[in-house]
Amino acid sequence: MNPCTASRADGTPCKARALPDRSMCWAHDPELQARAQAARKAGGQNGSNAARAARYLPRELRGLASKLIDAIDEVHTGELDHKRLTAMAAGASAVVKLYEVGELTIEVQELRNRVERGSQWRA
Ligand SMILES: [Zn+2]
Repeated sequence: MNPCTASRADGTPCKARALPDRSMCWAHDPELQARAQAARKAGGQNGSNAARAARYLPRELRGLASKLIDAIDEVHTGELDHKRLTAMAAGASAVVKLYEVGELTIEVQELRNRVERGSQWRA
């Protein structure tokens, strides 16, 4: 299979393989890009899935998730260096862990309160 003939945003050649019988990869092929853009404008499936998934995240993490999703797209098209996405993902992972610790702390406190109330009733 032939390599994609497009250049990435930083000017280096795209390293992906061209689509069969085409000169560019799926991320650079103008016809596919136009179709993907039309689908996004029409409120495509990806947008609604992302919106639905975002509702299950704590409000504070929604912006983070959306930035990561955009960054993944940008790495794919060559606009963003993959190392920056790796750094962003590491930062996001640390933030999520802090949230998890916070949630566990609240749950442990609620359980302690229940246990203490239970022992009062028994006494
Ligand atoms: Zn390409």
